[in-house]
Amino acid sequence: MAGAGDSEREALRAEWVGRIPPWYSPALHVATTTALGIVFAALALAPVHVVRPVELLIVPLTWVVANATEWRAHRDLLHKRVPWAATIYVQHTLQHHRLYLTHDMEIRSPKELRLVLIPSYGVVLLLLAVLPIAAALWFAGQRNLAGLFVATTQAYVVSYEWLHLSYHLPRGSRVGRSPLVRRLARHHAIHHHPSRMNQWNLNVTVPLWDWVRGTLYRGEDLPQLFADAAKEPVTDR
Ligand SMILES: [Zn+2]
Ligand SMILES: [Zn+2]
Repeated sequence: MAGAGDSEREALRAEWVGRIPPWYSPALHVATTTALGIVFAALALAPVHVVRPVELLIVPLTWVVANATEWRAHRDLLHKRVPWAATIYVQHTLQHHRLYLTHDMEIRSPKELRLVLIPSYGVVLLLLAVLPIAAALWFAGQRNLAGLFVATTQAYVVSYEWLHLSYHLPRGSRVGRSPLVRRLARHHAIHHHPSRMNQWNLNVTVPLWDWVRGTLYRGEDLPQLFADAAKEPVTDR
């Protein structure tokens, strides 16, 4: 359904896609972020041996903490202009959210993956962010916990990347047709409404922390949200 801002959005899309350098390869972008996550996870698991069942508890525990961190980082870094993280705010709120709205989430061409995916260096930065915790576990003699912790965080990053991509794939694609992906994609599409993005549906993967924090959008105006997303501007808070 087209709205008042849709033609302006198409002009923006043409402008931003036109700025993507000719050497950019969408396939290489997905492959690099995925491979980095898998390699880092494999390296982290290399020293892990003779795992006691109780040690495996760190996997679900890390997943829940990662889910809560995703929620908070999305709210406080991707949707607020913080001086040391201004780049990701611009890329997420002022570009990604301006281009993809609740009623129109699909990429038009593979090149647009540049406007959806985490940059490859982002996977490295996320690894660096968790390394101090891993180092603390390692030097406390908990080498299995350190390895399992890092591997889980890397699996989480890769799942974030692929799930977010799947929400923005054309609906007719095989991945986009999966019932689970469609359900999660709808959750994310509501977040892409300009008047809901700052406080609702802040999980991009599984909305566990949205449920815990009461930010799971349950409004009864969903048809309206899907109809009027293009009428509201995506602006700075
Ligand atoms: Zn998105
Ligand atoms: Zn967002």
